[in-house]
Amino acid sequence: MQINVAQLLKEPVGAKRNYEIDGLAGENGENHVKGNIELMRTSRGILAEGRFSVDIKGSCSRCLAEVKKRISFIMEEEFFPVIDIVSGAHLNPPPDEFAITDNHILDLSEAIRQYIIMTTPTRLLCRPDCPGICPICGQELARGDCGHSSRPRDSRWDKLTQLEKESKI
Ligand SMILES: [Zn+2]
Ligand SMILES: [Zn+2]
Repeated sequence: MQINVAQLLKEPVGAKRNYEIDGLAGENGENHVKGNIELMRTSRGILAEGRFSVDIKGSCSRCLAEVKKRISFIMEEEFFPVIDIVSGAHLNPPPDEFAITDNHILDLSEAIRQYIIMTTPTRLLCRPDCPGICPICGQELARGDCGHSSRPRDSRWDKLTQLEKESKI
């Protein structure tokens, strides 16, 4: 996820480079990230525009089973140098912006990590109709009925059951 941009920083505004990204990033570097990124020299630094897909793992919010999912996002971030490539003078990149290191490395890892967090759904489901776990014994109801969920059938309760289901989501 590290790109040496020394050459690009010496080029005029509007100069571009394209890179293919295929590697590990994310929290603890555990996500496989694939994509393309275009780096463009701006008057202040380098604009990175990319399109990525990332394999994420998590737990089903209803039954806690492991869920694997592919998410994708478009990134657009400007990176600011801490050293002027020509004069060697120290620059003050804006705080809270991504910096290009003093040896002219543009590291996408932190930006990608943040985009992964922003793009990952807060609630993952192992399947759209996951029945969840039994509130009494904790059995995964997808594996079979444990017997606790059987209740007398009475159409007057249907609305309530529906509400219950919805609130469980
Ligand atoms: Zn589930
Ligand atoms: Zn049960």
